Order: sequence, then C-alpha cells, then structure tokens
Amino acid sequence: MNQAGLYIHFPFCRRACFYCHFFKKKFKPDPVDECLRHIKLEMELRRDPGLAVDSVYIGGGSPSLLNAGQVSGLLEGAARSFSVDGKSEITMEANPEDLEIALLKELRAAGVNRLSIGAQSFHDRDLRFLRRTHDAARAIQAFDMADAAGFTNISIDLIIGLPTQTERSMELNFRMVEALRPSHVSLYILENVPRSEDGERDARLYFQARQSLLDLRFRHYEVSNFCRPGRASRHNLKYWRMEPYVGHGPSAAGFLGGRDYRNASNLSRYGAAIRGGKLPQVKTRQLDPGKRRIITGLRLLEGIPSPAFAAFPSATAFLLREGFLVRRGKNIAVPPEKILLLNEILGYFI
Ligand code: SF4
Repeated sequence: MNQAGLYIHFPFCRRACFYCHFFKKKFKPDPVDECLRHIKLEMELRRDPGLAVDSVYIGGGSPSLLNAGQVSGLLEGAARSFSVDGKSEITMEANPEDLEIALLKELRAAGVNRLSIGAQSFHDRDLRFLRRTHDAARAIQAFDMADAAGFTNISIDLIIGLPTQTERSMELNFRMVEALRPSHVSLYILENVPRSEDGERDARLYFQARQSLLDLRFRHYEVSNFCRPGRASRHNLKYWRMEPYVGHGPSAAGFLGGRDYRNASNLSRYGAAIRGGKLPQVKTRQLDPGKRRIITGLRLLEGIPSPAFAAFPSATAFLLREGFLVRRGKNIAVPPEKILLLNEILGYFI
C-alpha cells in the first residue's frame, strides 16, 4: 500500500476573510487549548501503528497562530499513533503576519520542513481589497525570514482574478516570484470574490500567470499548482492520486480503506464525540470509486491511466475527438489549454 498522508485542521483565525469557505472560528486561547487536546485524542482514537505515513500537513484556519510547543505536541501525537517516516514532508500553512524568525527556527527544530505562505499578492491594493492584515512588504519579509531560518521548501499562495488586478500588476507579482525563488506556487481563482468583469478576464490572467511560471521553469502539475523539479506537494498528490490520508480536527476529511469520511464541522459536536470516545465523523456520500478516480485524477496534468476510462467509452471517445482530453503516453489527460473547463469535462463522467 502507498504511504498515507496525515492532515490536521487547526480551525482558528484572527478574523474571518470574506471569501474563505474553510471551517474556522475566532482565535481565543481557551477553545484553542481544548481543540488541540481533542485533536490529540482523535489521533489516539484513530491509532494505527501499522499505517506508514510520509507526509503531515497542518492546515486551517491559521496554524501559524500556534506556538512551536503546540506544533511539537501535535507532531508527537501523530508519531505515537502512526508510523511516521523520519523523512516525511511536514508542511504548515502560515500567514505572513504571524511569522517571526524565532518562531520559524523553533518550527524547523520541531520538524516542520515545508511552509505554505499565504502571500496572496505582492500588491497592497489587492491585499486591501481582500482585507488581509498583511501588506506586500510583510509577505516579502515573511519569505525572507523563512529562508533565513533554513526553510528550503516554501510554497507561496497567489490569488488571481481580483478586480484590482491588471495584466501588468500580475506580471509584477511574478517578478517577485522570480526574486524570491519559492519551490512551489499555488495559484487560486477564488469563486466567491466579486469581480468587475466576466470569466474571460480570469482565464486571461490565469494563462498569463501560467506562462510566467513556465518561463521561470516551474512545472504545471495540477490545475492550481506549479513546482520546481521534485517539489510537488507530496501530501496533496495523495488527494489527487486516491492514496490514503487520515484527517484530524473539526471539518477534516480523510480517505482510508477506499472510503471517504468527514469530521463534524462544529467545535462542540466534534469535541463531544471525542470526549465520548467516538470518532467525530458525519455521514458522507461515498462516490463510486471509478468516478472518484476520474474526478480527482484529471486535476493532474499528467492525467490518469487510460483503463480508468473503460466504463465511459462514448464520453471518452467524444472528449478525445473534440480535444477536451488527450492521450499522454499510457494516460489520458486534460490538455493545459482546456484545464479551466475541467468541471464541464467532469460533467460527462458524473
Ligand atoms: S486567514 Fe486563511 S483560513 Fe483564515 S479566514 Fe482568512 S483565508 Fe480563511
């Protein structure tokens, strides 16, 4: 069996961003301490020392509000319950305004070896539109501090399609990527951000951004993700390749033994289940494995092995004929120029 990933959802933020749909609550010390206790108890409930894990991802929420001792506590809990490889990729999401050099050094010492920094843009105008609490200078400073603390695997999140953006301002964002040299860039077109124009503009900006990243020798490997050679997110690849992952924390999802699960997106219900010794899961729709394979796998530019399409001969033949799917060696994939039509393409298989 492939090695599993372990996801930990830390559901607290200083304040809620209007465009964000992740489960989160306002950061306050007492509920945070209680939630961390519950997450560690959940790890005990899900304990499986036979499960080999080679990636841990602490997401949220804003896990960079945690101190290094709290992060160590979570990683130690994980190591007690699962067989976590010493060479695991251990990622933590971080907001630029939370990062300080001392914290970054302590996080490295605690075992975190990959950061995903939510820069979003290197233009103050965009950041003000998003009502972020950091500015562009702070995003650059956060990256430089992470670099100085010894992080060699840093991903940057950028948002595209904002009404404040122009082709020129986007280009300057990528000049900043060129200067900072992150190992990975995630490029998001957010669905619930108001726009001044239609989807065509988003597509124009997306393809401009894609080309800028390709020119900087990034590899486009998933709809929203670009990496330097060998720096694809080991953890996120598990989602798209239907490999097992164990989710912990309120609202976290997991995929184990070929079945999807999701935890309650509610702090009290989550905590009550854990205190009662029960897994805090809610009912989840189980997708047909064949469909799930296509829905998740086609997000990858490498595509998926062609036998996965055997159950859909006419849809596959039509999409291949019309150029919405292409053969890539033994795989079938969505060509990059059609990748923003992925949802429409998936509609043929659902
Ligand atoms: S900081 Fe991140 S997780 Fe928190 S509300 Fe904003 S976008 Fe969502």
